Amino acid sequence: MVEKSDCRKLTAEAGDLQALNRPAENAELWDFVRSWLRRFQKTDGDKATERFVCLWAAVLAWAAKGAPDLGRTQDEIYLAHCLARDQKLAERFANLYKIDKDFRKKIDRFIASAPVFQAAWLQRNAISDWDTVQERSAFIARALEKIHDESDARFFAPACSLVHQQANEKIPVDWPHVFSIIAQVRGNLFHGGRNYKNSGERQFLEPAMAILWEVWRFELPAGLLLSRVSWLRALLRSGFMAQEIDGRISLAEETEGNKRFLQKLLAAGHFGTLKNNVFLPSESYVEESYWLRTVDSSHGSAEMGKADDLAIMDTCMAGLVRWLNQLGIGTELSCDGHGEKRPYFITVDEESARLASWLLNFKVPQFNQSGKTVKYAGAGPNPSATKPADRLKKMLDAAEWLAKNRDDLKIMVASMRRVSAPKTPPKPEPAVTKEQNPKIK
Ligand SMILES: [Zn+2]
Repeated sequence: MVEKSDCRKLTAEAGDLQALNRPAENAELWDFVRSWLRRFQKTDGDKATERFVCLWAAVLAWAAKGAPDLGRTQDEIYLAHCLARDQKLAERFANLYKIDKDFRKKIDRFIASAPVFQAAWLQRNAISDWDTVQERSAFIARALEKIHDESDARFFAPACSLVHQQANEKIPVDWPHVFSIIAQVRGNLFHGGRNYKNSGERQFLEPAMAILWEVWRFELPAGLLLSRVSWLRALLRSGFMAQEIDGRISLAEETEGNKRFLQKLLAAGHFGTLKNNVFLPSESYVEESYWLRTVDSSHGSAEMGKADDLAIMDTCMAGLVRWLNQLGIGTELSCDGHGEKRPYFITVDEESARLASWLLNFKVPQFNQSGKTVKYAGAGPNPSATKPADRLKKMLDAAEWLAKNRDDLKIMVASMRRVSAPKTPPKPEPAVTKEQNPKIK
């Protein structure tokens, strides 16, 4: 936590606040937040500035509702200090830093490049921009030469940077310090001047936005909270033959056609690139809803296609059907119900349908089989009340389960086929009693 008196500057405006209020019921606020988040999520990588503005608007609206001094809810510095002081956000930040390797890396890189300067101040003082191919530290030293007194601390963040530097210590890795940088990035966004677009300080925009989102998003109520999954999971759930090898995601086993389709998806959603069969994501996690929306808008539609052609399969059924086929259960047709009807698929023969429903009902009974058709029936105390969005999620869950256990399940399916379709009637066993052969138990 913030110990040094100079660090207290980062949250001074918050007074003796410990944590923002978190009212249980706040429909009006969440409606407002939802509209901004929709824009935050919709816009793609090219529109980082717009996305940041949308996220900031949502976070500030939330802070204004939870801040104790109702007379200052228009005061952005006050709200920023309240956010920086909030204990829950600080704890969550510390936890993420502890358990999430990628988050930690992002933070370490972010803090190592601090302080972040006010872009307009850099321009006013004719300090040449940070050339990102050069060492940040040399640039920082150059910029700090222009600092004359205490009051200049408002031109960079964290405001206590100079104190830490003079004490020959690193900037503490905690929420108040990190948030103060995020707030400075936001300031640059509005007051950075016309050169901000190409400014070195703009490098902080994307990480600042990602960090703010990752820490704050847990405040959203369940209906608004989006599900973030690792790329390996997202790919498996969508039926891609992805494999983790030495910490990287390989698609070496995937068909050329599906690799082309994946490349199209990656380009459409600005997700990263596929190079020499290795997927290089721009972020290690993806909001699954955003990924699925991208798949939805990129694939063709043909319910009768080959099960390994992901480009023509229904978004939420592609994975399930692909993995069933990989296990040796052939399908002829499938449909995810398009959010209206129940998802189903039709196998090549009745035995395959029985096998498929036996597998898919292994953990929870949720599919019905009739002839060659296997249909999702729902689960829980009231299966028929399953909501369309839940049904689609269940298809993805089932796909992931099949994918993760594919090696074992493949053996099971093969042996079940031998059991259920004997070529010749079994010979009657010779009668053996315990006395005759004591080894048999
Ligand atoms: Zn400090």
